[in-house]
Amino acid sequence: MPRVREIAATTSGMPATDGDGVRMTRIIGTPELNMLDPFLLLDCFESDQPQDYIGGFPSHPHRGFETVTYLLAGRMRHKDNAGNEGVIEPGGVQWMTAGRGIVHSEMPEQEDGLLRGFQLWVNLPARAKMTAPGYQEFPPSQTPLETREDGTEIRVIAGTTDLGTEGAVRNDYVRPTYFDVTLPAGATFEQSVGEDDNAFLFVIDGELAVGERRQRLGRRLLGILGTGGRVAAHTDEGARFLLVSAQPLREPVARGGPFVMNTRDEIVQAFDDYRHNRF
Ligand code: FE
Repeated sequence: MPRVREIAATTSGMPATDGDGVRMTRIIGTPELNMLDPFLLLDCFESDQPQDYIGGFPSHPHRGFETVTYLLAGRMRHKDNAGNEGVIEPGGVQWMTAGRGIVHSEMPEQEDGLLRGFQLWVNLPARAKMTAPGYQEFPPSQTPLETREDGTEIRVIAGTTDLGTEGAVRNDYVRPTYFDVTLPAGATFEQSVGEDDNAFLFVIDGELAVGERRQRLGRRLLGILGTGGRVAAHTDEGARFLLVSAQPLREPVARGGPFVMNTRDEIVQAFDDYRHNRF
């Protein structure tokens, strides 16, 4: 029987402002948790105050990794320099492979009300950092939702559940598992994961008891999981959480704002290419 993963560390992240004054919580990509290979960044935005999000993320570049935008509430419109455009809705996902370069904007498609969601940055292996940019975009109707007998609901963004539900996203490089799990009161969730994957849980609502030790993980906390082939989480009162997991790349990481490469020189090159309109 594979070992059940226990919580190795927790973080609540820190308040951050990005784009044109968008207020959010940065959970991965902070001094406390710089990265969890291959995950470079996790931002959680949640506000019903328009001034917290209305500025959005005007035109900006990316190179060398993938961004995954997943919304729980509200709507975001994206547009890029290759002519792609679309609106992301709750339960829908946009998986963007920035590859060698993209210039895009991500703007709220609403003037008031709640905007709540996540952006995750997934690193690309060195061999794929300069690949052609690409998108995978799925509305909620095309993002599989697994419903279990005990009332558990799993929105499968990427990866495959133990019951065989396959995520919408097809990924050529890193192949993460990315589930949004809603557990009714008294339910236990179990899922097999790669023994050496880096994996985390992030509690959206409620509280979890994680692993065989049933360690408590409260709302808005990220729990980094230790090694093992199985994830187990129980809830007494009901909970909603993300499970994200992937094999680490174990390659050097050089960061420069919106670019993530393997070396300093490649970052300098990225800024130069962007300045000279080579994106
Ligand atoms: Fe962006």
